[in-house]
Amino acid sequence: MPNDRQPTVARRVGVVGAGQLARMMGEAANSAKVELTVLAASMNDSAVATCAKVELGEAIDRAALRRLAERVEVITFDHELVDLEILQELESSGVTLRPSSAALRFAVDKAYQRRSFAAAGLPVPRCLIVRSSNDELLPDFLESLSALPVVKASRGGYDGRGVIFPSSREETFAVIDELAARGEVILEERQALTSEVAQVVVSALDGSLVFYPPVTTVQSDGMCIEVRFPSELNDAQSANLHQLSERVARLIRGVGVMAIEYFVTVDGLIINEVALRPHNTGHWTIEGTSASQFTQHLRAVSGQTLDDVSPLWPCAVMVNVVGGSAPGSLASARNVEGVFVHDYGKSWRPGRKLGHVTALGDEPVTPRVRAWKGARAYGTVTQEA
Ligand code: ADP
Repeated sequence: MPNDRQPTVARRVGVVGAGQLARMMGEAANSAKVELTVLAASMNDSAVATCAKVELGEAIDRAALRRLAERVEVITFDHELVDLEILQELESSGVTLRPSSAALRFAVDKAYQRRSFAAAGLPVPRCLIVRSSNDELLPDFLESLSALPVVKASRGGYDGRGVIFPSSREETFAVIDELAARGEVILEERQALTSEVAQVVVSALDGSLVFYPPVTTVQSDGMCIEVRFPSELNDAQSANLHQLSERVARLIRGVGVMAIEYFVTVDGLIINEVALRPHNTGHWTIEGTSASQFTQHLRAVSGQTLDDVSPLWPCAVMVNVVGGSAPGSLASARNVEGVFVHDYGKSWRPGRKLGHVTALGDEPVTPRVRAWKGARAYGTVTQEA
C-alpha cells in the first residue's frame, strides 16, 4: 500500500556506482523527471559530471550505502560488484532497492544464474560448477567435452575479465584454482557460435514488460565492440528469442532494465548471461529509438509507467571507443559526418572503454562505416570484425 514514506512515484533516485551507465542515467534524469544522487568512489568518476548530487563512498561500504539511502527514495545500480548481504540488510531496514537484492543475485552470482535458468528449463551452455580442481565430477565432465571448456568466475567478472579460454588441461586446472580463490567457478562447453545477440527488456513496477528489438553484438577479446540493429536473426529465431526473454524476465522479476545476452548456434539460441542494469548493447537506443534504455530504466525504478519503444531509423550501429596505444581525438571523432559521439569523461588508458559512437541510417553499411570512423578517430584499439 502506498503511504507517505513509500510514495508511488519516487523523484529522488540513488545510483550505486558512478561509471558510464550512471553518467548516461544522469543525462536522462530530466526526461525521466527524477533527481539522481550517485554513490561515487571519487569525484573523478564518470557520472559525477551529470548527476545532480554526489555521495562519496564505495559500493560495498555499508555506511556509505546508508548515507545514500537517507538522501533518496529508491536505489538502483550502475554495476553488479555489490555485496548482496549488505543489500539484504538495507532492504530489511526498509530501504527500497530496484532491482531488489533477490533479482540482483542473478547478475551478481553467475553460478546461481546458471542453476536457476537450468532448473527453469531455459537453454544454457552445458556446465559444471566447482570450488576447486579436485572436484570429483571434473574428470568425467572434461572427458564428455569435445574441446577444452571455457572457465568463468562466478562473481566479479565483466567485459570478458573472469572469462578464460584455457589451451591445455593443465592450464584448465590452474585457472580453476586461481579463480576458486574468489568463489565458485563455472566450466562450460565451448560453443561454436554463429553469432551473438542481445535483447534489452524493461520491467515496470507493476510487472509489465517493454521489449527493445534484438541486436547483433560483436566481441573482441571477450569485450563487446560493436552492436548492430537490426539483428541478423530470422523471424523464427526472433520469435523464439522474444519468448525466452519474457521467460527470463518473469523468472528474475527485477524492476528496471535487464539485458539478456544470447549465443546463436546451429542448435538454436542459448542464454549466455543477464545483466540487471542499462547495458552496452542498449546504448544505440539513445538516438535510435523513441525512448532510450536510460530514460526507461529511471522511469521503471521510480515507479512510473513505461513508454512503448519503436526504432526511429531502419538501421543503427554502435561502436565502443576503447583506448588505443595513444590518445585519440574527440574533436575529430565529432567531425565525422552523421555520428553521435558519447564521451565518458574518463582519462585515456589502453584497453579502457572511453566512450561510444552511434550512427543511424536507412541501410546498414553507411552507419557502420561512419560509426567505426568516429570510434577510430577517438582511439579504438580493436579492429573491425
Ligand atoms: P562477461 O560477463 O565478462 O561479458 P561473458 O560470459 O559474456 O563474459 O563472455 C564474454 C564473451 O566470451 C562472450 O560474449 C563470447 O564471445 C565468449 N564466450 C563466453 N562463453 C563462451 C562459450 N561457452 N563458448 C564460446 N564463447 C564463449
